[in-house]
Amino acid sequence: METAERPPLPNADPAELQKFGALAHRWWDPQGDMRPLHEINPLRLDWIDRLASLAGQRVVDVGCGGGILAEAMAQRGARVTGIDLSTKPLRVAQLHALESGATVDYLERSAESLAAESPAAFDVVTCMEMLEHVPDPSSSVLACSTLARPGGWVFFSTINRNPKSFLFAIVGAEYVLRLLPRGTHEYAKFIRPNELAAMSRNAGLEVVEILGLTYNPLTRRFALGGDTDVNYLVACRKPQ
Ligand code: SAH
Repeated sequence: METAERPPLPNADPAELQKFGALAHRWWDPQGDMRPLHEINPLRLDWIDRLASLAGQRVVDVGCGGGILAEAMAQRGARVTGIDLSTKPLRVAQLHALESGATVDYLERSAESLAAESPAAFDVVTCMEMLEHVPDPSSSVLACSTLARPGGWVFFSTINRNPKSFLFAIVGAEYVLRLLPRGTHEYAKFIRPNELAAMSRNAGLEVVEILGLTYNPLTRRFALGGDTDVNYLVACRKPQ
């Protein structure tokens, strides 16, 4: 019988990582499959910068993908590390940074493993549009909290779970408006704001702000506001 201890399974779903790998070559096409990420990027960047003043801060972007947010934060003067477990998007991110001249350190690492190695090493942790793709989001939230220094910021964004979010985020976005490829999201993995807030508090974080992100199909514009029914963002702080 096998007695040797096996390494713990990473908190990752190989099918999800492969899905993002298959989209990697179109990551930076603003009209391509990642269009929503390009469109929401200035909104979330300004919000993060307003709260956490990015210039000069050590930032880790967890689940950075092709680096849309990571690069933008670096361009605001942050010292950014981007981590992801999907190889192809990371390669695209590295190539894009070479072209754009942005300085970002990209690593193929899980949040959990970087947290074990470098606890409290970052002033700001961002983990956007990733939690709804992992098997155990509370483990990712705990790792993000561990990565932040006392007094540091942790930002999450994900998708709410209710009939409206099913209609808008899956039927509307993937089938009617075709904003995203079919199969991008799985309803059961969506997370209610109160659930994410509880995960954050259990991980030792204070929830500072919960903000909604809405899409108007007529103007084809995203906006931040009070409506958290579908997409939303959470800002947390690690107590001093
Ligand atoms: N955060 C980026 C990309 C979102 S797409 C942005 O908002 O612009 C979701 C990303 O999460 C993909 O790049 C995918 O590879 C990554 N991901 C999924 N599961 C992961 C895991 N367990 N650990 C790290 N990254 C993961």
